[in-house]
Amino acid sequence: MTSSSSIVVVGAGVLGLCTAFELLRRGRSVVVVDPGEANASAAAAGMIAPAMEAAIDGATPDQADLFRAGRDLWPEFAQAAGIALFRRPAEWRGAAAADMAARMQALGFDARQDGDRLITHEDYQVEPAQALAAMRAALGGRIVTGRVESVARDGDGWRVNTSDGAFEASAVVLATGADAAVAGLAEAAHRLIAAIQPIRGQIGVASRALAPHVVRGPGAYVAPMATGAVVGATMEPGRRDIRPDAEAGARLLDAAWRVLGQPPEPLDIDWRVGVRGASADGLPMAGAAPGGQGIFMALAPRRNGWLLGPLVGGVVADAIEGRAASPHARPLDPARF
Ligand SMILES: Cc1cc2nc3c(=O)[nH]c(=O)nc-3n(C[C@H](O)[C@H](O)[C@H](O)COP(=O)(O)OP(=O)(O)OC[C@H]3O[C@@H](n4cnc5c(N)ncnc54)[C@H](O)[C@@H]3O)c2cc1C
Repeated sequence: MTSSSSIVVVGAGVLGLCTAFELLRRGRSVVVVDPGEANASAAAAGMIAPAMEAAIDGATPDQADLFRAGRDLWPEFAQAAGIALFRRPAEWRGAAAADMAARMQALGFDARQDGDRLITHEDYQVEPAQALAAMRAALGGRIVTGRVESVARDGDGWRVNTSDGAFEASAVVLATGADAAVAGLAEAAHRLIAAIQPIRGQIGVASRALAPHVVRGPGAYVAPMATGAVVGATMEPGRRDIRPDAEAGARLLDAAWRVLGQPPEPLDIDWRVGVRGASADGLPMAGAAPGGQGIFMALAPRRNGWLLGPLVGGVVADAIEGRAASPHARPLDPARF
C-alpha cells in the first residue's frame, strides 16, 4: 500500500508531536509514524524549567534566553493543544541554595533564597501522559502505528517505507529520539544521528503525593503528578537498557527523602526508564538535515525535550515552509556540527 501525504513525521515523542501539531495548525497535511512503544517523553517529569535547568547546568546567558523563550511559548501552545499547564513555584533545597540563587539571578531569573531553600516562579510543569494524549487526540487519525525502515528519493519528494506500507512525502521530519537512523539518509545526516549520545534516565512513579510543587536538591527531585508524585531521575550517559535498576531506585529514593527533609517511609513506587538523546552541545538539532532536499530534524534535546518542544516544533515548521528563521533557529541548526 502507498498512501499520499505531504509531510511525514517519524516518531511520536514530544518533539515529533509538537512539530506535527504545529504543522497541523498551520494548515499542513501531516502524518506521524510511530511504533507506539514506551519512549523518553512518556517517562519524563514534564518540568518546563528554564531557571532550574539553566542554574543546574551552568548555562550561558544565550542558552538561558533560549530556555526562557521555550518556556514562553508554552501558555499559548498548551491552550491550543488542550494541554494542562501548571504554574506552581519550584523549589531547590540544600546547601547550594545561595549559589543556585546567584546563578539564576545572574541569568535574569527571579529567585528568592531563604537559608537552604530557594523558590522561583519561573518554571512550569505539564503531565507528560496528559500532554501526549492531548496532542495525539488533536492529530487523530494522522498518527499511524509502524516503524519507518527506510526513506528513498522519489521525484521531488520522498518515499517513506514502513514495515506495513509506504507514504509519499514532500518532506520528512526525523524525530526518532535516541534511536538509530533510518536507512537511506545522506551520509552527513546519518553521521549526525549516529553521534547522538543516549542518556538513560530512571524515574519512579509514587502512588501518593509527596510535595505540593517541584522540589529539587542534591541527587534527586520530587514533582507532583496526577497519580501522586514522581521521584527522579538518573543521568547515565552511554546506556540504552530500559530495565529498571533496583539499586539506582534505592539511591534515588534515599536522596529524595533527604531533599524533602523527611525520614524514609514505605512507598509504592513504579520505576520506569527512558533514554534521552543528546547532541554534543546539549541543545536540540532542529531544522533542515545536512544533505537537505526535504529531510528535517527534530532531535536530541537532552534533558529539555518538554521545555523546548513547542520551540523546536516552530523552528522545524518554519524551515519546512521556508519562512524567515526565528532568532532561535541558529543555535539549533543541525549544520552547526
Ligand atoms: C526520566 C526522565 C525525566 C525527564 N524529565 C524531563 C523534564 O522534566 N522536562 C523536560 O523538558 N525533559 C525531561 N526529560 C527529557 C525529555 O523526556 C526528552 O528530552 C524527550 O522526551 C525527548 O523527546 P523525543 O521526541 O526526542 O524522543 P522520544 O520521546 O524518545 O520519542 C522518539 C519516538 O520516535 C520513535 N521512533 C524511533 N525510531 C523510529 C522509526 N524508525 N520509525 C518510527 N518511529 C520511531 C520512538 O519509538 C519514540 O516513540 C526527561 C527524560 C527522562 C528519561
